[in-house]
Amino acid sequence: MTETFLSEIVGSFAMPAAENPTVAIMEAAFRHHGLDWRYLNCEVSPQKLKAAVDGAAAMGWAGFNCSIPHKIAVIEHIAGLGKSAEIIGAVNTMIAKGDSFVGENTDGRGFVEAISAITDLAGKKVVMFGAGGAARALGVELALAGISELAVVNRSKQRGRDLAALVDSKTPARADYLPWAERFAIPRDAEMVVNATSIGLYPDLEAKLDIDWSSLEGNMLVADGVHNPPNTHLIRSARDKGCTVLDGLGMLVNVCAICIDLWTGVRVEKQVMRDAVINLNG
Ligand code: NDP
Repeated sequence: MTETFLSEIVGSFAMPAAENPTVAIMEAAFRHHGLDWRYLNCEVSPQKLKAAVDGAAAMGWAGFNCSIPHKIAVIEHIAGLGKSAEIIGAVNTMIAKGDSFVGENTDGRGFVEAISAITDLAGKKVVMFGAGGAARALGVELALAGISELAVVNRSKQRGRDLAALVDSKTPARADYLPWAERFAIPRDAEMVVNATSIGLYPDLEAKLDIDWSSLEGNMLVADGVHNPPNTHLIRSARDKGCTVLDGLGMLVNVCAICIDLWTGVRVEKQVMRDAVINLNG
């Protein structure tokens, strides 16, 4: 029997919210570690975001995640930002502080933690596809973690240029924008290839990056941010070439683990979280 009937509350504000599996991952970790915490997955429209943040503060929530479309908009409703969140200009995790919240971005940190378990990032040359919210977080955190060069390849030129300029000016790494020409050839000296676009995301399971597949070499490390499904066309093709791969579930599980650590101080068992999503996927 628990000693109190007042659980700690965290959750997520997003729209849409129904297909986000984070609640299952978080609750599996809470159960496994005997934490009397609840994670509430809430669909919140942009018009109601301020009311939701104020409501969470009023109810004493310990924190919350924000996903599409609130990662930038929520900043004006909270009290402050962590260091890398300030550079990235977007947040996904709020932590209660006084009567308000401080915003952090764990997307990039989760990715860096997952990839650092496979390789030493120091001095690596990275080619990254995408320049949206996830790409901004990944690019900045990879650069802060010690890679030497980042090539940003993005369909929309302006977004790609902006991200390359941001990383180049605010981190020790060098960053350039490369236009995404038809059948883009991955530079031969690339050591790591990252998909931070939404290509391959459910329901378009067969969507492929428009690249020259013969330029993907077996000695490259290939990572995909898409976690639904984790076995994307890119991950399958890279495995066939003999590349070491990291799927988007590795990133998602690490993102969730860092959130729980920030909220509760507990370093959770990551396999429990990964199993929770795999069970969902059947
Ligand atoms: P955004 O909408 O902010 O950005 C989408 C990116 O994908 C842009 O760079 C966009 O290019 C590009 N893109 C989309 N469709 C195409 C296409 N057909 N051809 C070329 N480029 C395309 O989304 P997010 O950055 O928030 O999310 C991106 C992905 O990252 C999603 O799949 C999301 O699930 C994943 N993610 C995974 C996490 C994890 O823990 N594993 C955490 C957070 C996100 P353009 O600028 O030209 O529009």
